[in-house]
Amino acid sequence: MHERSIEEPILQVKNLKKYFPMGKNQILKAVDDVSFEIQAGKTLGLVGESGCGKTTCGRTCTGLYAKTDGEVLFKGKDVHALRGKERKAFTKSVQTIFQDPYASLNPRMKVGSIIAEGLRIHHMLGSKSEREEKVQELLNLVGLQSEHANRYIHEFSGGQRQRIGIARALAIEPEFLVCDEPISALDVSIQAQIVNLLKKLQMEMGLTYLFVAHDLSMVRYISDQVAVMYLGKIVELTSSEELYTHPAHPYTQALLSAVPIPDPDVESKRARIVLDGDVPSPISPPQGCRFQSRCRFASEKCREVEPNMKKIGTGHYAACHLL
Ligand code: SF4
Repeated sequence: MHERSIEEPILQVKNLKKYFPMGKNQILKAVDDVSFEIQAGKTLGLVGESGCGKTTCGRTCTGLYAKTDGEVLFKGKDVHALRGKERKAFTKSVQTIFQDPYASLNPRMKVGSIIAEGLRIHHMLGSKSEREEKVQELLNLVGLQSEHANRYIHEFSGGQRQRIGIARALAIEPEFLVCDEPISALDVSIQAQIVNLLKKLQMEMGLTYLFVAHDLSMVRYISDQVAVMYLGKIVELTSSEELYTHPAHPYTQALLSAVPIPDPDVESKRARIVLDGDVPSPISPPQGCRFQSRCRFASEKCREVEPNMKKIGTGHYAACHLL
């Protein structure tokens, strides 16, 4: 268990921008002035359709991508300015769980070696028996058996592979995990199992999560706070409870209306808000509010003036002229 206070933000993202030059003087503004923070031991869900910049945001927070502007502070230190020992300590503290464990785990290595790989990279190997013991401990921690260490990744189901991905990420005892759509490729019943496992591990180990997802269905069960992203911007940020009971931004309302409700009576009566068309290209986002081309409330002002993020309630922020 890490000894940090649960009140302290472990990650602070301030006005972060990540732009990609695309040639012909075009710029893809994947992340465009995004701010949020995550308290130690808590989870922020970062949600939006594919192409909204959420994965790029996660990768810029872990230092995998250089930033264009703004700041990412991990325990108060600028992630993109870390060098030498501090950089090494940071890469050990932060790990990523990927959407497709099959693509991110080496199919030619046995599971035991895959899990121990991080130990080798960070010079934490110890003796052979210590290593084997550690691998077994990790397999058991994620609900797998010790004998699975001698098998190959293709011998496992999607859910089991994701458990292996989690065991590998936890091997070097990180504090902060970026969960990059870890359940999107899994069946719904398996999604719940992985979310429950992540919650259990968080409680036992004091982990902090940035949980990236393309819809709001499972995010509720794991997140303390949720940030909704659209075309490189956060459009709404609040507690999970508030977001699901009082969604304020028209985009959040539309995303939420697509989440199935377990009660068949409620489900049959509820109105679904259909979003017209696809997400516009982030290379040439619409003028004014970026959501205006798909928003059912769009007015002249929305087509001309970009709304700023403003406080609309206790700990509740949204960017919309209607609010
Ligand atoms: Fe819709 Fe206008 Fe609000 Fe944008 S600012 S979300 S277009 S109502």
